[in-house]
Amino acid sequence: MNPKRKLLIAGNWKMNPAPAGFDADDSPFRSRKNVDVAVFPTFLDLRRCIDAGIPCGPQFGRPEPTGAFTGDISMAMAAKLGCQYALCGHSDRRQFHHETDEEIAKQFVAAIDNNLIPIFCFGETESEHDAGKTIEVLKRQLQPIITILTGSLSLTADRFSLAYEPVWAISRGDPNKPAATSKDAQEIHALIRSLLPKDKQASTRILYGGSMKGSNAAELLAQPDIDGGLVGGASLKIDDFRKIVEAAEKNGQNNG
Ligand code: PEP
Repeated sequence: MNPKRKLLIAGNWKMNPAPAGFDADDSPFRSRKNVDVAVFPTFLDLRRCIDAGIPCGPQFGRPEPTGAFTGDISMAMAAKLGCQYALCGHSDRRQFHHETDEEIAKQFVAAIDNNLIPIFCFGETESEHDAGKTIEVLKRQLQPIITILTGSLSLTADRFSLAYEPVWAISRGDPNKPAATSKDAQEIHALIRSLLPKDKQASTRILYGGSMKGSNAAELLAQPDIDGGLVGGASLKIDDFRKIVEAAEKNGQNNG
């Protein structure tokens, strides 16, 4: 992590209930002095997180403010509720809802327009990884976002984050799934940073997602181009999530 970038640890609860104790006084889901923390609950639990003072956002939001889109909510509605963040382009949404790079870019813009901080998720699948197509895929997925960032000189990096999530490392309920090695993740993060517009390279937070947990967070977060984590499975286990946030806090102190 570069000392200029504050780490962000984000928990993606996916389609699971809020873990017991999430709103306790010593909840690890609240931001700390040198670490930003956010959670992405189901729509049903957004209000509870907001009421508990936990920074949060929807796992998906439509760009249109209102309309005939059964089952969806909009970025505007999430902002009005009091959300601060929004996920865009999570691999579950790309796979199960067939969201395209162009649709995801529209969500990204709508989040920013509504003063939400979008976390743009992208990453190669196992077959793309095995076929040696990682860089090609990442460039394709990032291109619409790079175009948006290039055209917006006034869009400062505190208004969005990126999350590199190699789909082959995402646990999907398997606690033994190995994460990318910290060396491999660092290499990809550095490459991603080099693809960003020059004026955004040093300031953009690039989170790592894919089986980050208490046992590997310190090593991943120690990498110079890894600026936090998007955490699935471990964010449902309060004690494990706490370890990740504590590792981030230590890292921030060492760098601060
Ligand atoms: C995710 O799906 O965003 C994710 C990173 O999951 P996990 O941490 O469980 O691999």
